[in-house]
Amino acid sequence: MFLSSRINLGKISLFYRISETVLSLIKGEEKRRSFSLIENTMKEIDSRKLSAKELSLVHIHFSFRLLQVLGYAPLLDRCTVCGGQVTGKSYFSPSEGGEVCRDWF
Ligand SMILES: [Zn+2]
Repeated sequence: MFLSSRINLGKISLFYRISETVLSLIKGEEKRRSFSLIENTMKEIDSRKLSAKELSLVHIHFSFRLLQVLGYAPLLDRCTVCGGQVTGKSYFSPSEGGEVCRDWF
């Protein structure tokens, strides 16, 4: 398993970074929910030719996907503060974790 990755230092490094991300974010029961994401990502890495830049982007993409699986995705379909539908002008608030309607500014 992962034969092409065993001889590619860039892929070995990426596997290591993904493992560090997983170990820092996942506890207990969350392991089960994220297993297929981890397995599929490693299979994709192993099956593709990736440049150094692409290897770096894969880690970022994986990290966002893992956060989504763990329930940390930003709220984008309604206002994070009031829960109302966002129409017209709105803002993304990192501190609120999603979209915020203009009423709060
Ligand atoms: Zn609002």
